[in-house]
Amino acid sequence: MAKIFCIANQKGGVGKTTTAVNLAAGLTVLKKRVLLVDLDPQGNATMGAGVDKAKLESSVYQVLLGMTDVKSALQTSESGNFEVLPANRDLAGAEVEMIDLEQRELRLRHALAEVQGDYDFVLIDCPPALSMLTLNGLCAAHGVIIPMQCEYYALEGLSDLVNTIKIVHAKMNPDLKVIGLLRVMFDPRMMLSQQVSIQLEKHFGEKVFKTIIPRNVRLAEAPSYGIPGVIFDPASKGAQAYTSFGEELVDRIAAL
Ligand code: ADP
Ligand code: MG
Repeated sequence: MAKIFCIANQKGGVGKTTTAVNLAAGLTVLKKRVLLVDLDPQGNATMGAGVDKAKLESSVYQVLLGMTDVKSALQTSESGNFEVLPANRDLAGAEVEMIDLEQRELRLRHALAEVQGDYDFVLIDCPPALSMLTLNGLCAAHGVIIPMQCEYYALEGLSDLVNTIKIVHAKMNPDLKVIGLLRVMFDPRMMLSQQVSIQLEKHFGEKVFKTIIPRNVRLAEAPSYGIPGVIFDPASKGAQAYTSFGEELVDRIAAL
């Protein structure tokens, strides 16, 4: 049965999608069967995996609204060699359209139950908000991976996310836990990066992943080719860091 993880942080531009796509590719390189779920109407994870969001017959939107099943909406990332439950702008309407549905926070959980046996990992790329979509992700998952930029405002908002996770854990999904905080876009030349990084370790101890993802231009270039950075330039520092992160995650899960 697949382990299901949300990549979440309600801030935009903090590296969620980059982490989701590259972790999916990194775990695939480790011979794991991976499904990447794009839960953001921007469809960046879909495009980053090389799937054209403009050409979808069905997507996670139809799945959430019960108009189709997961298997019919699946796409394959040819570049990354994993499967994708894609998203596009249609998903922006889902929040409102789900209002009348029963157990609307459990729509994704119920949908994924159908395919959970087909994968080792399901990774959910969440939108930058603590919205009904993110709530669907959290209710479907066993754990949350939180990417964080080591900057002054990084800790701001973290408590909101952690509180939300606590509430979901208490009321809706007892399986849910924080798997770890991942330091991303790290710039070792910046004193502030170092300081915030140390602060995170002090505060959160073992919950901070040992792997640090550096700021690396190859990771930023890869999405425009529809290729995960890990595959686009495997020798780059960013790719190697995400590959190491995949290994660390597999070890961490085994120890849980
Ligand atoms: P989010 O999904 O949280 O909004 P993204 O993963 O889309 O964040 O990242 C925001 C921007 O930063 C993107 O342009 C992405 O290419 C870039 N980026 C993310 N991680 C890195 C990194 N480690 N090095 C360089 N650029 C990065
Ligand atoms: Mg994103």
